[in-house]
Amino acid sequence: MIRISNIKVKNGGDASAFNNGVMDPKALSKSLTFVCAKALKIDAKDITKLSVFRHSIDARKKPDIFDVYTIDISLGINEKKALQKARNKNAQIFEPVEYKLPPFGDKEMSKSPVVVGAGPCGLFAAFELARLGFKPILIERGRPVEDRQKDVENFWKTGVLDTVSNVQFGEGGAGAFSDGKLNTMVRDKDGIGRAALKIFIEHGAPEEIYYEAKPHIGTDKLVEVVRNIREDIKKLGGTVLFESQMTGLVLGDQSVNGIKVKDKDGKESVIDTDTVIMAIGHSARDTFEALVCEGVYMEPKAFAVGLRVEHPQRKINRSQYGVEQSPTLPASPYKVVHNTSQGRGVYSFCMCPGGYVVNASSEEGHLCVNGMSYYARDSRNANSAIIVTVKPEDFGGEGPLCGVEFQRRLEKKAYEMGKGKVPVEYFKDFKNCSTARANEEDRSSWNTPCIKGEYTFANVHELLSSDLKEAIDEGMTAFGRMIEGFDADDTLMEGVESRTSSPVRITRGDDLQAVSTKGLYPCGEGAGYAGGIMSAAMDGMKVAARICAERYPRKD
Ligand code: FAD
Repeated sequence: MIRISNIKVKNGGDASAFNNGVMDPKALSKSLTFVCAKALKIDAKDITKLSVFRHSIDARKKPDIFDVYTIDISLGINEKKALQKARNKNAQIFEPVEYKLPPFGDKEMSKSPVVVGAGPCGLFAAFELARLGFKPILIERGRPVEDRQKDVENFWKTGVLDTVSNVQFGEGGAGAFSDGKLNTMVRDKDGIGRAALKIFIEHGAPEEIYYEAKPHIGTDKLVEVVRNIREDIKKLGGTVLFESQMTGLVLGDQSVNGIKVKDKDGKESVIDTDTVIMAIGHSARDTFEALVCEGVYMEPKAFAVGLRVEHPQRKINRSQYGVEQSPTLPASPYKVVHNTSQGRGVYSFCMCPGGYVVNASSEEGHLCVNGMSYYARDSRNANSAIIVTVKPEDFGGEGPLCGVEFQRRLEKKAYEMGKGKVPVEYFKDFKNCSTARANEEDRSSWNTPCIKGEYTFANVHELLSSDLKEAIDEGMTAFGRMIEGFDADDTLMEGVESRTSSPVRITRGDDLQAVSTKGLYPCGEGAGYAGGIMSAAMDGMKVAARICAERYPRKD
């Protein structure tokens, strides 16, 4: 097989091959065959197979915008000789890396492994274990994703929080009501990332996630994928229990003998097991507390806090593409980074083109926000978190959970500021620390929020400490030089963005088990080993592979 990279084709030429900016490689296969043949100086009919490995958009020379492809082809002629003749530095012989699970280990798994948490990490770990015949028990404190959708909609409509089932807790995990971005910074040298994408596609995700450089599913499709994975886990012999919360471990000689579980009626029971994959996410604060009390080693870790900002999507498109809308271009993403004069890094995070800001709270009397979108990414506004890294020395406390307390203080302030509604402020007022707002001028043409949940205008500039606020002020001004209008007066600032990643790391050794506790596999975002849907899913698969390398499933 030959891989040819950096094939540039002017965007907009073949509009029929694009739907809402999503490229259909089948519709383009004839023209791409021709382009590849030209690149290799061969006859098009010598190309026997063609597939797009990667598609991205290059808008650096706007208004001239290019689709950039990496294409894999097979030839009916000698590939090495064809390459030598072509002398194209972007083309090379390429062997695709197939993700392979290790052979089973030599110890029987006599009791079912338990996976705690049905977020992407837990779901993918349980799916892999079920596929391998281990009959896992997957327990989730929240409700199935279908019921959870109703609970979350109800929260956004009424403001009444259900602490069992919300944006953080329930099947699908924190990512279920998300933008469903599936890119990751994790290097994919053994093909595990591609294997994870295949699992998403086999369970209903759109095929383009396999080749788009910035793959995304959207919350509407993600919910369907989650349900299909759960049904497959059950078909493969696994058990899935909802409203079943792990409240602690049963320990013996620094190893796991079982877990304590509370059901929806508050009844406690024990599941006997010597293998626990703990994929509880970054918001399971009560579980972190229980584990600390039981002597599971964890340490505070840096994360980031800040605010969600909203701009009209058309403004972002105009700045990034040179046009406000085009059928051959998706709603534009952006990524901005700035180092402040005080030495802090300010950056955009979890950018959602055509998305919604969501009230993502999970604790009574506390409020945090995040972002989501539907597959079509067709809301009026683009949003992203503008955040600043905070380290344990910023948390103002001691012990492994001092980062959790730091988050809680911010979330309580946000809740009180908005009286339970998402506090919002225009950048003009945020920057000037002004409380005057609309009285002083006509703001009827200013942008308005696209928020899931109730919101109210408030003094968002008082939410963060003065050094974090200053860092965001400076960052916004710098971003205004990169994206026209980013720091416009009517940019919306909403808070607080506090759950960007886990405030703790549950430290594990090379065997992927907790350094303090044998048989316990801390995994995914909550344990500090992932940051996003894809990396969490990949970490779940990695832990399942490790278990497979040590044990074989019992034969019954
Ligand atoms: P989680 O998804 O948090 O799952 C943990 C699960 O464990 C939860 O379902 C929880 O209910 C359960 N649980 C916790 N404690 C217990 C217990 N004691 N007993 C039983 N069950 C328990 N990432 C991206 O890559 N792309 C995005 O576009 C994106 N958008 C996001 C939008 C929103 C609104 C949010 C909140 C997050 C978003 N993220 C996104 C982040 C992403 O969702 C997380 O990184 C990812 O879900 C982490 O996966 P996880 O499985 O490790 O943990």
